[in-house]
Amino acid sequence: MTILPVIPTSPDQPDEVAVRRRPSMPPRHLADLDLAARQAAVTTLGEPAFRAKQLSTHYFGRLVRDIDEMTDLPAATRARLTDDLLPTLLTPVREMACDDGATRKTLWRLHDGALVESVLMGYPDRVTACVSSQAGCGMACPFCATGQQGLTRNLSVAEIVDQVVYLAGVAASGAVTGSPPRLSRVVFMGMGEPLANYPRVIEAVRRLTTPAPEGLGLSQRHITVSTVGLVPAMRRLSAEDLNVTLALSLHAPDDDLRDELVPVNQRWKVAEVLDAAFEYAARTGRRISIEYALIRDVNDQPWRADLLGKLLRGKLAHVNLIPLNPTPGSKWDASPKPVEREFVRRLREAGVSTTVRDTRGREIDGACGQLAAGELTEASAGGAAAAAEVAQ
Ligand code: SAH
Repeated sequence: MTILPVIPTSPDQPDEVAVRRRPSMPPRHLADLDLAARQAAVTTLGEPAFRAKQLSTHYFGRLVRDIDEMTDLPAATRARLTDDLLPTLLTPVREMACDDGATRKTLWRLHDGALVESVLMGYPDRVTACVSSQAGCGMACPFCATGQQGLTRNLSVAEIVDQVVYLAGVAASGAVTGSPPRLSRVVFMGMGEPLANYPRVIEAVRRLTTPAPEGLGLSQRHITVSTVGLVPAMRRLSAEDLNVTLALSLHAPDDDLRDELVPVNQRWKVAEVLDAAFEYAARTGRRISIEYALIRDVNDQPWRADLLGKLLRGKLAHVNLIPLNPTPGSKWDASPKPVEREFVRRLREAGVSTTVRDTRGREIDGACGQLAAGELTEASAGGAAAAAEVAQ
């Protein structure tokens, strides 16, 4: 693990973890607005409408997030526009890298003191950003570190988009060893339940997929929205004209166990949630991804693999098995490799396409379900600072 040098925080953002204001939504940012609304905003501020495009080209086209680096704008213009269109939303508290620089996690402080994390993952053929959609999470899945924190608040559209624009800038700088410089994929698998912050997440997806300079110009197919299974929101998503990949965190094929592992199952049962997922696949023609964290002696029995195979046989679905990343103090552990192999074998035998996800970022608590910014900061701030000195 490498701890990158701690980035100095701005003077108006005191560094003590203890500083926690009441959760509140952040100020408006250009990434909250479409191009027409940005034009209206700049003219209200007494600037010509073309400034909106100029700002957008810097931000989405060149990945410049700091107005002071937009040196073709007159100083007076920069002063006028910064508060209203480019306030600082995310202040980096700490960055960590592992997997030889191919995985990097950033811990952010938001304007109200809430903490969230993003992860950048480089592969030989692509770079993926894993972003947070909420500070904390209200879904209370017992094996997930974020689920233990409870929900602090929803993120704004721009707080989501700005994570991606930042990470795209890191990729463009060539910092992700052995990967192309262009960020091409985004997964909503960081902190939070994206479909519980539905309108903002959808708007963020639109901003990320609208061509530059209005948006970031990513392909809709390269965006994955992952959900615990909020059925009405899944049905609403089916009706949008979006072709994103839908991932469903199933984790158990039977209601008895899923009621415990994914508590929202007490409201929407396995049959209902799969039905909504299959409807999404039918409407979009896109294969759904079934996420299943394999937990030793909990959900990894051969009969559960067979039941899952029966539920998914012949459907437009792919199973993504995730070796459980144990969270601090958890009673659960990952399944042994032979058990995992047998689970895969049975699913494939049932004709269901299945892969096992690599567990990136385990060392920096950046792997699936390990993002828990609050506890992490308080527990390890001293250690991280010491290690950063060594790294310098
Ligand atoms: N709330 C959304 C997205 C965030 S989590 C959802 O639940 O889908 C992204 C994925 O990581 C989900 O499939 C989640 O169930 C899984 N996950 C959570 N904790 C985990 C852990 N400790 N080990 C492995 N996967 C985990």
